[in-house]
Amino acid sequence: MGLDGDSNGDRRTRAAPLQVAIVGAGFGGVGAGVMLTRAGYREITLFERGNRVGGVWTHNTYPGAACDVPSHLYEFSFAPNPRWSRRYAPQAEIQEYLESVASRHGVLERVRTNTEVTDARWDDERGRWQLDTSAGAHECDVLVAACGQLSVPKIPRLDGIEQFAGPVFHTAEWRDDVELAGRRVAIIGTGCSAIQTGPAIAPIVAQLDIYQRSPGWTFPKMDFVYSERAKRAFERFPALQRLDRAANFAFHEFGALAMTREPRLLAPFRAIARRQIDKAISDPELRAKVTPDDEVGCKRVMLTDDWYPTLTRENVELITDPIAEVTPRGVRTSDGAERPADVIVFATGFKSHGFVAPMRITGAGARTLEHEWGARPRAYLGLSVPGFPNMFLLYGPNTNGGTGSVIETIEAGTKHVIAALRALERSGAREIAITRSAADAFDRQLRAALANTVWHTGCTSWYVDENGNDPNQWPWLWSTYRRRTARLDPGAYELAGVRNGGAQRAVAEDRAAVA
Ligand SMILES: Cc1cc2nc3c(=O)[nH]c(=O)nc-3n(C[C@H](O)[C@H](O)[C@H](O)COP(=O)(O)OP(=O)(O)OC[C@H]3O[C@@H](n4cnc5c(N)ncnc54)[C@H](O)[C@@H]3O)c2cc1C
Repeated sequence: MGLDGDSNGDRRTRAAPLQVAIVGAGFGGVGAGVMLTRAGYREITLFERGNRVGGVWTHNTYPGAACDVPSHLYEFSFAPNPRWSRRYAPQAEIQEYLESVASRHGVLERVRTNTEVTDARWDDERGRWQLDTSAGAHECDVLVAACGQLSVPKIPRLDGIEQFAGPVFHTAEWRDDVELAGRRVAIIGTGCSAIQTGPAIAPIVAQLDIYQRSPGWTFPKMDFVYSERAKRAFERFPALQRLDRAANFAFHEFGALAMTREPRLLAPFRAIARRQIDKAISDPELRAKVTPDDEVGCKRVMLTDDWYPTLTRENVELITDPIAEVTPRGVRTSDGAERPADVIVFATGFKSHGFVAPMRITGAGARTLEHEWGARPRAYLGLSVPGFPNMFLLYGPNTNGGTGSVIETIEAGTKHVIAALRALERSGAREIAITRSAADAFDRQLRAALANTVWHTGCTSWYVDENGNDPNQWPWLWSTYRRRTARLDPGAYELAGVRNGGAQRAVAEDRAAVA
């Protein structure tokens, strides 16, 4: 492929570097920024509405926040950290790690913080993306949306909440300025954030009331501190850390197999979870309250060593009666009881079905992503949507798992993006998009596989909405995701246009399937 001329002074020739905009600077945005840079794509701009890179690890600073996938798996494969302080690193360490990776790999300087992308429009004429951001307009060839699945807090509507006299906040918007020591705190919710923050604050508060809608299964976390000797060993022998990573990956694959294909393998997990309850709680009433009646894995399983012991503390009460209303001084449940509270904490999770929302994305032919998706967001391999050329989603629809590390998923997805960009450049075309037939065929496979997973065995979870739509979960193994994203399936993507800016803009559309 030769270079095209620059006859009209437009410097954007066919060989001009692709300009890439990445929305979001969490693990997805930073990981994509590093991997694209290393692949030779240097014209990258990242937009982050928060005030620093980090994504969920910037936003979730609640006491006790930590990962629940071992850090040797919950880190980039290209940036192993032999010095994690413990098996499951706490929030501040993960935040520091991500910032240091972004800085070491030259991504930090490309991030525009405090800048929200509100609108992205594909310009059919020019074959480029036009972005509106809170700091002005931006134009690029390729759009990568790395907005996360858990970046917009969800707060249920509770009658009377506005009349509550004390502070009210979500775990993802933690208020360090609110003193909890010696106060009465109400936590609403018993999901992943509650089981971390409850045990962390219980020893200092006067009273902790935890309001539960339905319990989830938990497993022992078996967390421990890495000794200095262990850290030095990981430094000297990186293969040790890789081995630990591989072992963790294999264990999580086993979990994925049980949840997606072999339900009989759930039995040992159920036994472990039951034993954890029985060992920690002797009161039959409390045992009954914390024991789920749905299948293990249907809701997000949680790892903890201290949740049940916390519930047995003198100053902690688990309340399972539904909340009727919030009063100026506390929370009233449907049985009429009012429990006083000074502070209310929502540990109620995230709006996990919006993906790119509230950003508005408009693709070819002025069709919006909202319209394309309707009630069910979907994307080929979670990455590509027909009619949205040169656009990729990272950690997009159906790329979350009941087990496994999201960072693995993000890396696999980014490799696919790079393969697509290489195909685009090799061809000299201007646009690459997934074909509708490939996207539809993938969606049919996905639906069929999802129907047989544990997530559809009847429970409420953030994976499935009230209409049965399940846009979050990947219904196969993670090794399958790696394999399927590693290359472009022949004919799955189509190329169009000629990429050289002004001179040949009028050249007839040159459609070709990527083979
Ligand atoms: C408390 C918590 C603990 C978790 N622990 C684990 C774990 O142990 N293991 C695991 O695998 N996963 C875990 N997860 C899931 C987590 O979402 C992923 O691991 C990963 O961090 C996702 O990275 P991301 O970059 O895709 O999304 P995020 O980290 O959510 O980052 C997205 C970023 O995009 C920004 N953004 C969104 N829209 C716009 C816009 N329009 N303009 C500008 N910026 C925008 C957001 O502000 C955010 O900073 C956890 C999630 C939470 C909330």
